[in-house]
Amino acid sequence: MDNSDVVIIGGGLVGLAFACALKGSGLQVTLIESQSAPRASDELSSDAAQTASHRSNRDGAQLISGVSPRVSAINGKSRRFLSQIGGWPDDAGCKADYTGMAVWDTQGTASINFSASEIQQDCLGTIVENAAIVATLYDSAMVLDNLKLMYETELESVDSTEAGYAIRLKDGQEIQSRLLVGADGGQSRVKQLAGLKSIDWSYHQTAVVTTVELDQPHDNIARQWFTASGPLALLPLNQPNYCSVVWSSTEPDQILALDAQAFCDQLTRITGKQTQAVLACDKRFSFPLTQRHAVQYTRDGLALIGDAAHTIHPLAGQGVNLGFADAQTLAQTLHQCRLEGQNPGDLKVLKRYENRRKPENMLMAAVMEGFKRLFGSDDPGVRWLRNSGLRLVNGARPLKTMAAKLAAGA
Ligand SMILES: Cc1cc2nc3c(=O)[nH]c(=O)nc-3n(C[C@H](O)[C@H](O)[C@H](O)COP(=O)(O)OP(=O)(O)OC[C@H]3O[C@@H](n4cnc5c(N)ncnc54)[C@H](O)[C@@H]3O)c2cc1C
Repeated sequence: MDNSDVVIIGGGLVGLAFACALKGSGLQVTLIESQSAPRASDELSSDAAQTASHRSNRDGAQLISGVSPRVSAINGKSRRFLSQIGGWPDDAGCKADYTGMAVWDTQGTASINFSASEIQQDCLGTIVENAAIVATLYDSAMVLDNLKLMYETELESVDSTEAGYAIRLKDGQEIQSRLLVGADGGQSRVKQLAGLKSIDWSYHQTAVVTTVELDQPHDNIARQWFTASGPLALLPLNQPNYCSVVWSSTEPDQILALDAQAFCDQLTRITGKQTQAVLACDKRFSFPLTQRHAVQYTRDGLALIGDAAHTIHPLAGQGVNLGFADAQTLAQTLHQCRLEGQNPGDLKVLKRYENRRKPENMLMAAVMEGFKRLFGSDDPGVRWLRNSGLRLVNGARPLKTMAAKLAAGA
């Protein structure tokens, strides 16, 4: 049986970031990921450059954009963390800063907008292709001498032992570790196997994501419309007329059934009053949305981070930002525990991480739930309340500054 100080299950955005943040900790780390290894960042950008030369390749309203459909709004705090650990992509083609945000209630007349200059920042955040962050983190992870990367192998079972956890993989390999970290996403097997409970409920919405081409430049503004069936976001991409769409809806089947032209027309009907016409759309993908929160993130020898610990509605683009903050905090805690000569699996050590992260994650989950309920309601009283609220915040500089700072992670 192999031995490791820390075994991380899951090499997505958060698991890989956590592995990179353990550089210099003196801990031997093993990362296990069921999928194949990501492509290195130079391969990814040369592919993207090739595809970019074919961009605007469209047949009527059907677009082949070359942009990966999964992007994230990354705030300043996450960007600084990723830069420190070698996870911030250099390639300008995979990311776009946004300098302003605008939000409308389509069932009323109120709106709110704020800009980076109001909080003395250059931008409120950056829209980045998830695959580019994973590829950059992978480049950095590959050269770490305290890290062993194991791809295309899956967690099978875990047993609690005196020294931590005995971890068995589907291919029969076994590893003994002092600390087991679940970074294995919303359906976390680590959480299930450890018997950690979570509070889950469906948002009864599915996010439809794609890339669209507009008839005018997006001006680096992230825009969102709250419609009766859910929020629709248009996030600016590197190409001045391209946006990423995240449309969370109670009626995803109807949206997915539309042909490309009808989909673009529908988007233009919602967004066109304030902004631009949608000319063409790429292939659409869908993701059912569930709110989950683990009751405990830790137990002796075990910790959960990222979506394994909590998933929230994407309407404010905060999910992976919270996950990166988990990874950063747990890594800082382990660096400190190493200096103090403590066992990384000691529950007292792990509770320091949980106590720092859980209140912030729970607060954000509660705020998202509040937003979703407030904007999901058709009740005339609630409609009046939210329109008045939006106007109030838009007219009150301190409240606007607070909202802008929250969005920017400043
Ligand atoms: C439509 C949509 C838009 C979003 N937009 C934003 C945004 O703008 N900003 C933002 O901050 N967040 C956003 N999010 C949230 C964000 O995508 C997630 O929070 C983030 O991907 C979670 O990363 P993770 O590494 O924790 O989990 P995952 O990305 O789910 O990674 C888990 C990894 O674990 C691996 N794995 C799972 N089980 C096993 C196993 N048994 N053995 C080995 N490996 C395993 C998986 O293969 C996977 O690679 C959005 C989410 C959605 C759905």
